[in-house]
Amino acid sequence: MSAQPFNPFKMAQAQFDHIADLLDLDKATREFLQYPIREHQFTIPVRMDDGNVQIFRGFRVVHNDVRGPGKGGIRFHPLETIDTIRALAMWMTWKCAVVDIPLGGSYGGVTCDPHNLSMREQEQICRGWVRQLAKDLGPLMDVPAPDIMTSAQHMLWMLDEFETIRGEKYPGFITGKPIGMGGSQGRKESTGFGLIFTVREALKELGIRPEDTAASVQGFGNVGQHAVKLFQQIGGKVISISCWDQKNQASYCYRKESGINFDELFSITDIFGGINKDKAAELGYEVLPGEAWLEQDVDILIPAAVENQITLDNVRKISNKVKIIAEGANGPTTPEADKIIVERNMFMIPDLLANAGGVTCSYFEQVQSNMNYYWERDEILGKLDVKMTNAFMSVLELAKKKKLNMRDAIYYIAVIRVAQACKDRGWV
Ligand code: NAD
Repeated sequence: MSAQPFNPFKMAQAQFDHIADLLDLDKATREFLQYPIREHQFTIPVRMDDGNVQIFRGFRVVHNDVRGPGKGGIRFHPLETIDTIRALAMWMTWKCAVVDIPLGGSYGGVTCDPHNLSMREQEQICRGWVRQLAKDLGPLMDVPAPDIMTSAQHMLWMLDEFETIRGEKYPGFITGKPIGMGGSQGRKESTGFGLIFTVREALKELGIRPEDTAASVQGFGNVGQHAVKLFQQIGGKVISISCWDQKNQASYCYRKESGINFDELFSITDIFGGINKDKAAELGYEVLPGEAWLEQDVDILIPAAVENQITLDNVRKISNKVKIIAEGANGPTTPEADKIIVERNMFMIPDLLANAGGVTCSYFEQVQSNMNYYWERDEILGKLDVKMTNAFMSVLELAKKKKLNMRDAIYYIAVIRVAQACKDRGWV
């Protein structure tokens, strides 16, 4: 059993320290990159539909913006803490650096549960969040995006509030906007698709055809859905998907050995990525405990839900048949579990690379919004494929050359790029 409660920021710092040791980073650079450069913690009072005022906690953390404006999601989650946001901001710094886009690392959030909030209440939270941060956000400073339980609609309310405060139009203020309102074609599917581009490359490296593989996925929200869709399109079979069930406050795994039917499952999924348990059973899916997704005899595991899902407590339950683990979620694997995965010789595609398609396409959206000129979907997905494939190949090449595992190779590339930029600017 893990002795300490899970702290994502400590995990992110430990991952960084490991590479800082390997690179023999000087003391000042190490200390500088261990902590965020800016943090905001604030309250958002909202008059609820019943007339009472409820106070929500909001956050925005900029870990590092040496390579360009901060970039990172906003998450609405009942268990949101400043340490999760710090970790996510730090991971964004490395993620932008490894796919080599000129952006820094930020993240934000609000401790709330949209399942229990009306649309009007959610709008007030979005507007309140922007009001608190209006001076510290903007296309040239820090650019938010959607994440867990935030959607294009939330981004649009935030954009509207920002433009109202500034009195001018700033389409590049935020990404993940609706198409036709400054959003980019392809953004919605970019994280899941980007993930499958990296799975495709890993399969090539292992000499396996996608048609000969089966996958099990945790999470059926934005990332999970699009990953499943493209994986099936390239010939793979998905046999199980686990997600959170709000009614029962538990997660369940839905399995069909012959392969899940995407459209069928999607039609019984709510906007939060929750699958209707009773309807799934009616459609012939086996309903298993949530953790069963990890124990399947499949070739590929895709954690695409939340952090801290593959731990010392369950890592040994992963089948010997598994060849690839592709992290759609941020921080799904603890460092202790990661060690065992490396020892078991499974091909890990770590989060910083596997889910970087989202921020890459957000970058494309920002470029288009700043020009106020929009590209076609094929052009965007083509550019995304090139970026993801190039990043995958550079990481793999370095991993082989320096005999590093994939995660260490990613950190190696990213930390060198960021540390060098800090030196070049004379910051450390
Ligand atoms: P989402 O809110 O759209 O979907 C989350 C999914 O996870 C839902 O299906 C939910 O039911 C499931 N889930 C939540 N808790 C669970 C649990 N305990 N057990 C099983 N399933 C659970 O979120 P998303 O945007 O798809 O993000 C998923 C992950 O991917 C997060 O870690 C996020 O930070 C990361 N990510 C998202 C993007 C993006 O563009 N949306 C980009 C990069 C990384």
